[in-house]
Amino acid sequence: MTNIKNYPSSQKFLIETPLYEVVRYEDADLELGRQIVYFDEIFDSYCPECNSHSIFERSWGKHKYISDDSAGWINRGVFFIEIKCTRDREHRQLFVLKAVDQTLQKIGQFPSIAELNLFDVKKYSKVLEKKYFRELTKAIGLASHGVGVGSFVYLRRIFEFLIEESHVKLSSEQSWDEEAYKRARMNEKIEILSAELPDFLVENKSMYSILSKGIHELSENDCLKAFPIIKIGIEIILDEKIEKLNKEKKLAEAKKALAELSSTI
Ligand SMILES: [Zn+2]
Repeated sequence: MTNIKNYPSSQKFLIETPLYEVVRYEDADLELGRQIVYFDEIFDSYCPECNSHSIFERSWGKHKYISDDSAGWINRGVFFIEIKCTRDREHRQLFVLKAVDQTLQKIGQFPSIAELNLFDVKKYSKVLEKKYFRELTKAIGLASHGVGVGSFVYLRRIFEFLIEESHVKLSSEQSWDEEAYKRARMNEKIEILSAELPDFLVENKSMYSILSKGIHELSENDCLKAFPIIKIGIEIILDEKIEKLNKEKKLAEAKKALAELSSTI
């Protein structure tokens, strides 16, 4: 059985997949590798030179060549893929790939993967303490250089910070049972804190066990593979916090405006 979900799209492979992570294609899935090597679609991504998102297309140079042989790429060796920003075609990004024995690996790129991915996390500095925001960017930086286990340690600390933040908030309530909380395992703690924690975290408690497993049992490559998924999980949790913050702000503003209005009418 093949599992297409395990293979990255061209965009994922170029923009998000850490350097040196090996993607191995089974015989039946070689076509999916061909679609990366000869990719010719457009995609939306951050352009550091525009300092915003833009649409990128492949830059083929003078010789555009697309092979339709699914297995034609499997021992191609080292080659380049260049993409350009369609807002200004001088804005280019270069990727160095290596294809050997049915595997694809990204072995170099400019701009760095951290630069391409950090733009989208800047907004989280609003809901993460400075220290943990820095750890989030460190995690992304480490994963982009092929450090899997190390990046997991930072993600785990951020996860634990989110739990502790809710713990501090709820423990001031009268009905709080600190002893029971202390004795509880992490998934039980999440349950106890569920009123305060983002829904996504409560529904996906398994994230923590993947994170702690990573540190003890998973290989560097396993951690690198799981990194984008766990990162998205943490981003969803932080997105929920931003949403909540915006709603509270809007409510406070509306209340104030309403009070001012009623005092004049
Ligand atoms: Zn651009």
